[in-house]
Amino acid sequence: MESGDRMTDEVKERLRSIPPVNDLLAEWPVIKAAGEAGDAIARAALNDELAHERSRIMGGAEPRGKRDLALAVSERAHRDARPSLRPVVNATGVVVHTNLGRAPLAPSAVAAVDAVARGYSTLEYSVDTCSRGSRSNHAMRLIRTLTGAEGALVVNNNAAAVLLVLAALAPGREVIVSRGELVEIGGSFRVPDIIAASGATLVEVGSTNRTRLSDYERAITRDTAMLLKVHPSNYRIEGFHEEVDPPQLARLAHDHGLVLFEDLGSGALVEMDILKEGGELTARESLASGADLISCSGDKLLGASQAGIIFGRSNLIERCAGHPMMRALRPDKMTLAALEATLRLYVSGQEPPTRSVPVLNMLTCPVKQLERRATDLAQRIRTLLEKAGCPDALRVEVVEGTSMPGGGALPTVELPTFCVAVTAADQRLAADGLKRALVQEGDTPVVTRIAHDRLLFDVRTMIGTDDLAIAAEALARCVRRRLSR
Ligand SMILES: *Cc1c(COP(=O)(O)O)cnc(C)c1O
Repeated sequence: MESGDRMTDEVKERLRSIPPVNDLLAEWPVIKAAGEAGDAIARAALNDELAHERSRIMGGAEPRGKRDLALAVSERAHRDARPSLRPVVNATGVVVHTNLGRAPLAPSAVAAVDAVARGYSTLEYSVDTCSRGSRSNHAMRLIRTLTGAEGALVVNNNAAAVLLVLAALAPGREVIVSRGELVEIGGSFRVPDIIAASGATLVEVGSTNRTRLSDYERAITRDTAMLLKVHPSNYRIEGFHEEVDPPQLARLAHDHGLVLFEDLGSGALVEMDILKEGGELTARESLASGADLISCSGDKLLGASQAGIIFGRSNLIERCAGHPMMRALRPDKMTLAALEATLRLYVSGQEPPTRSVPVLNMLTCPVKQLERRATDLAQRIRTLLEKAGCPDALRVEVVEGTSMPGGGALPTVELPTFCVAVTAADQRLAADGLKRALVQEGDTPVVTRIAHDRLLFDVRTMIGTDDLAIAAEALARCVRRRLSR
């Protein structure tokens, strides 16, 4: 007990030695931070740093001097002044990375967002009648052209699209789904939960791996409103597996006066080799195979803004558009501007969309080009390490690897790519520490992945030469910092 009390006295003494707030406020780094980040942020950073200092000391750490504390406050204020939502460099090779904002937009889509965001727009104004118009009209024509659908509607995201279709077309009635398609996508989208939330009743048929036409047929009752087909997106059943083709399902639905609705998930608009490889159809092909309504995301393989797109028979689209829930699920002007501009790239005769739409461009980038970019990145890193006086701190190699489409799309497709792999003998430069530092230390986080204790930069998802420069500089800075400690 006695030694415990002495410890406490020592800790008390150390706590008393923490400089008073006013002394810290008079330190130059804190004054400078307040000038840059604002008084409120600097004050909050000071309080947070003092709280941190107290808990450090209680944990047995030595108190820091006034100067070090002031520097820590200034660093904290600088961090707190940065936007919480800000750009990152995606060096993971996952093209449609849900955590990193999914689809990067094409320059023309960015310009369209900029133009409508700056001022007023024709969001709900018709230039034909010089009076009120409909926000539903904006991307509609283009979606119809691209999918061959009679009608189209845009909502906030694909989860909203599924919810709206069910709420509008099957309230209080039964919706039949194969057990193999009751999937969860990206954490919070679960097919059974969405059906329950819409007010429809789920009727499960078949088994996880096999569902036949007769399973659907037997489940149809007077209360059935719809057959729902869900793209399993992020998983595949291999082996002993059977599902019913959309044309057969469509015939069954129509024979019984029911609607066939397909949640397509990704919604690719153009044919690409990797779609075939993944066994996927384009949105147009899916519609042609018999569904009455289809929904998909705007920011997966379509490569536009976060949106849910519903297309198909116009009488059904009208019922969705007229549902009260539409008001809560409608997209905003920036979403619509980016979507419309991206869709225009698909119909434009100037460039193929695999060149103009960033997601498609990344997915189809030739490996030769990726190898050149990886070589470029490796060279930038070596040059900066040399400049920092530590040319041999890391082994920097160009290696082959695989990237992934991501976004729950094409889960079985692996894309051959080139990465820059870095390794170090020095424990201070271990891969997991560097990975964290690359995210946390710079203004622009650089997100990488680790394989076999090597830190990998997959150049497929790094945009232009800017991302290469940012990543190389961030890595050199992290290395320099660690070696100088
Ligand atoms: C991704 C996905 C969704 C959810 O789409 P969001 O646009 O993220 O709301 C729903 N269904 C399927 C099949 C999907 O792949």
